[in-house]
Amino acid sequence: MMELSVEKRFSDIEHNLNTIREKIYKAAVSSGRNPEEVTLMAVTKTVEPIFINHAIENGINLIGENKVQEFLSKKPYLNLENCEAHLIGHLQTNKVKQIVSEVSMIQSLDSLKLAGEISKRSVEKGVITPCLIEVNIGMEESKTGLDLSALEDLLCQAALLKGISVEGLMTIPPICESEKELDKYFSQMHKIFVDIKDKKLDNVNMRVLSMGMSSDYECAVRNGSTLVRVGSSVFGDRLY
Ligand SMILES: *Cc1c(COP(=O)(O)O)cnc(C)c1O
Repeated sequence: MMELSVEKRFSDIEHNLNTIREKIYKAAVSSGRNPEEVTLMAVTKTVEPIFINHAIENGINLIGENKVQEFLSKKPYLNLENCEAHLIGHLQTNKVKQIVSEVSMIQSLDSLKLAGEISKRSVEKGVITPCLIEVNIGMEESKTGLDLSALEDLLCQAALLKGISVEGLMTIPPICESEKELDKYFSQMHKIFVDIKDKKLDNVNMRVLSMGMSSDYECAVRNGSTLVRVGSSVFGDRLY
């Protein structure tokens, strides 16, 4: 593949952000929602800091990274004064110590063991780490994320831990054959989110429903997503 010039990639990013914002706006309005309820996260895995900073200059105030090491090595080069960063990829317990206090949220909490480690390291550093519980809505064996049947248990147990605040749910749906099937997963997820919110569990603050990526964020917004995680539609295809 031919390398694009930096200038061309900058203008592509600007154009892509405008297009995505417009689509989010339309999807929200078409489903009777306030577009301001939806936050656009730019997913920056494999993207170099110069392009991430360009997205930030163009109004992005939330980025998502998958890997602890990659994020920490890029962080010194990022202009994060007006931009938050979340960890969205699977987190191993042995990496928790490095990431706690470096991101403003961990979206991939999927076990009590991990919750315990986040709690311990947060207390050590004197911080409270906001977390989303990652739900494996398709119940796929190959996927990370928590089984639905275990969700309420983890919610209640994590809520008891010091140094953690549970702020909502995150999901990656299975690859779907049709828009209708995708719609079913997202609406199921929204229902779970609302049901838990209605239970008003102690120390559980259901304010974020993180779902929707490049290929499906409009469908996610129509189904109540409050945070869409968009990577390749912002920065172009990832070159690994
Ligand atoms: C990579 C990634 C995304 C963004 O994917 P795109 O298809 O490039 O938009 C969103 N969420 C998670 C957890 C990811 O790993």
